[in-house]
Amino acid sequence: MSDRKLFIDGKFCLGSGERFANINPATGAHLGFVEEAKAADVGRAVAAAKAALSGPWGRMPQAERLALLGAAAQGICDRFDDFLEAEVADTGKPLSWARKVDIPRGAANLQLFADITRNIANESYITDTPDGGKAINYAMRQPLGVVGVICPWNLPLLLMTWKVGPALAAGNTVVVKPSEETPSTATLLAEVMNDIGMPPGVYNVVHGFGPGSAGQALVQHKDVAAITFTGESSTGIAIMKDAAPTLKPLSFELGGKNPAIIFADADFDDAVAGTLRSSFSNCGQVCLCSERVYVERPIFERFVAAMKEGAEKLRYGAPMDEGTEMGPLISAQHRDKVLSYYQLARDEGANVVCGGGVPQLDDELSGGSWVEPTIITGLGDEARCVREEIFGPICHISPFDSEEEVIGRANDTEYGLCAAVWTGDLKRGHRMAAALDCGLVWLNSWFLRDLRTPFGGTGASGIGREGGIHSVNFYSELKNVCVKL
Ligand code: NAD
Repeated sequence: MSDRKLFIDGKFCLGSGERFANINPATGAHLGFVEEAKAADVGRAVAAAKAALSGPWGRMPQAERLALLGAAAQGICDRFDDFLEAEVADTGKPLSWARKVDIPRGAANLQLFADITRNIANESYITDTPDGGKAINYAMRQPLGVVGVICPWNLPLLLMTWKVGPALAAGNTVVVKPSEETPSTATLLAEVMNDIGMPPGVYNVVHGFGPGSAGQALVQHKDVAAITFTGESSTGIAIMKDAAPTLKPLSFELGGKNPAIIFADADFDDAVAGTLRSSFSNCGQVCLCSERVYVERPIFERFVAAMKEGAEKLRYGAPMDEGTEMGPLISAQHRDKVLSYYQLARDEGANVVCGGGVPQLDDELSGGSWVEPTIITGLGDEARCVREEIFGPICHISPFDSEEEVIGRANDTEYGLCAAVWTGDLKRGHRMAAALDCGLVWLNSWFLRDLRTPFGGTGASGIGREGGIHSVNFYSELKNVCVKL
């Protein structure tokens, strides 16, 4: 049992007096209690973060600041197994996935943004002046101040450091609000921050929920200069309303209903393997997962059969077992939501190709939030299961006949996060990339990321771009300085 405390001004502390349970979703076991922060605790964290801006952190040379971020990245690597165990216990995701994705990327995010920030050049111009002389204009980057970082549960350490890395590299201080479902790795990172000598107040963690709790208090706080948020689109709307009175910049990475499009000329086996990954990885709980799969008619039946065979082979099991490929959903509540969509699919007239229920698992795992990977076909484009983000291991596969048709159907959504296109014709691939309304298109691949590239969505999938220089731009204030020569 590990209780998770708040981390404010370099110290672990209690919060509002209320606490909530941390549950292992693979077993339903109680992992420990989490201190809940309310407005007063968030106020203490923001005050500490604000004070740190004018303390040693604010005066620190850039090289030293970036070296501290590198040390934090190394600190995660040094305690790799602790982070791995905590992430797997909180999320139920298979060890094999967390070891390859969550924890290494958590460390890489901190190192990468230290490197990027070190190598940024700012713009400058020599300007002709009305008196026939010259002036130099140059841009200067300054921190925004205290940044509020609000995170989801699906990739807890990875998505948190994706924001904390560039925010700290730019000289800000942060107050992190991890998801109530996954409080542990943000808390472990606090231990690392103390171990490496990060000045108190630079990195703070407040646990709790959204409305009426830590999340809302952070958004509404007048001394929080910006909010960076990853989560559901509806939460983004609530945050935008709460942030309006204090006019904060917002960076939003939100939901998706992403298409995978498979042309008949694609490498069949690659497309099947890629679509199995893009539909079922992390139990379908990656914002980039494909929930709408469009397959060119000549290969439709064969593709559906191959997907069924692949989905039925996915191995569930204890997350810490090496052979496990499929974990549970994050919580009983989320399982109920996903199962309600499995039922809705039937009610809407879908053909359930495989899955659609709850798997039978042995004693220890029987209390977990398990569902079967599910493939459905036969729904029209207006069906709710084809339009709404389910965020579970389910995809709808439907046939298409022409490029033009599939572009129209893929774009017929309020979301616009990503798309995966599988084709042997690269010219067509580039045409498709230009025609799809979304922030990121994968050709013949999925979830292959270069962290220097722009990442974000259009429409209900987000506002702004993070990644590389785009993150640096969000987390810094650009000031123009004009010098008359
Ligand atoms: P969520 O929106 O329910 O919660 C995310 C965070 O917001 C949590 O920490 C929660 O406590 C907090 N929160 C909730 N209401 C709030 C409020 N009113 N004010 C302030 N904070 C509030 O999302 P989730 O269920 O944790 O995550 C799943 C969602 O995240 C899916 O929709 C998924 O697509 C999306 N997601 C998007 C990306 C991306 O990069 N676009 C990445 C991962 C997940």
